[in-house]
Amino acid sequence: TLVLGLESSCDDSAVALVTGDRQILAQAVVGQNSAHQPFGGVVPEIAARAHVAVLPGLIRQVLDEARVRIAAVDAVAATAGPGLIGGVMVALLAGKGLALSAGKPLVAVNHLEGHALSPRLADPGLEFPYLLLLASGGHCQLLEVRGVDDYRRLATTIDDAAGEAFDKAAKLLGLPYPGGPAIEALAREGDPAAVPLPRPLLGSREPHFSFAGLKSAVQRAVASGAHRPADIASSFQQAVIDCLVDRTARALAASDAPTLVVAGGVAANQAIRGALAGLAEREGRAFSVPPGWLCTDNAAMIAWAGAERLAAGRTDPLDTPPRARWPLDPVAETVRGAGV
Ligand code: ATP
Ligand code: FE
Repeated sequence: TLVLGLESSCDDSAVALVTGDRQILAQAVVGQNSAHQPFGGVVPEIAARAHVAVLPGLIRQVLDEARVRIAAVDAVAATAGPGLIGGVMVALLAGKGLALSAGKPLVAVNHLEGHALSPRLADPGLEFPYLLLLASGGHCQLLEVRGVDDYRRLATTIDDAAGEAFDKAAKLLGLPYPGGPAIEALAREGDPAAVPLPRPLLGSREPHFSFAGLKSAVQRAVASGAHRPADIASSFQQAVIDCLVDRTARALAASDAPTLVVAGGVAANQAIRGALAGLAEREGRAFSVPPGWLCTDNAAMIAWAGAERLAAGRTDPLDTPPRARWPLDPVAETVRGAGV
């Protein structure tokens, strides 16, 4: 099978052609970092307009590069949420137009399912179930991934997402957006023990994440003028690592999933990958993490999730709505109400 994937839910316009046997025939990602740079974060209106301008050309480019005609694809997969609604509408409507004109099925993909299944695109040996730490710009969750469309959420953040914490800390340090890569680079030159910072909920019996208090402590550390920026960056990153490892260890203890998996933009961080690999080893679990480019937003993960859904017989009608919010585990959402 061959699936065309489209993604525009945040600030990356992306298109990819992926086969059911894990070949990426072509793909393209165009970010908008410079457009949002002056504002220190993504401006929804600017993002949506940029997707409208860029996405059609990327579709042409990817099809041409792979020498594939739209008639040869088996389905068109487009992110239908969650995300910035104006952006989500662009890829979803483009996907509907292509599906309609070419007479192909539409697969409306949850962006989080794209992240959640992306490790299976990179790792053919990764079977369900697995315990997933999904750490991205808008989410920080622990999920038991039991199969396509079968997710049990064990934990979420009660305030900020992990990537959001990186972005806010970077802004406080005067580093460019997105903050994750900038902090990771600066942290290499710093001492992770130099600045005392809190580890919210560390050792707590409740399963969730919290990063807002850490951000406030970074704010105070910057304002004090007493520390080198590299030491603040390194100590901040270490605090995030300690929280992620502690919360994930707690979830692992409650799960008999044989494999620990990390995905989402924050999983591109080498120190975080290393710390979680160490945890998996200590706990006697296998470990899987996609390559960095597959952790941050891309369309290969959307095409792949589309291929997995198509194989499970799940296609969607042309009146499928775009969704700003769309939890992977609706049951957890109604029970807890906390976080996203
Ligand atoms: P979501 O997937 O929750 O809707 P998103 O799509 O905006 O949000 P992703 O693209 O999946 O988020 O991830 C982007 C986030 O990952 C940003 O917050 C960014 O700072 C963070 N990030 C990217 N690279 C790194 C890194 N090397 N270290 C830490 N964080 C990183
Ligand atoms: Fe994402």
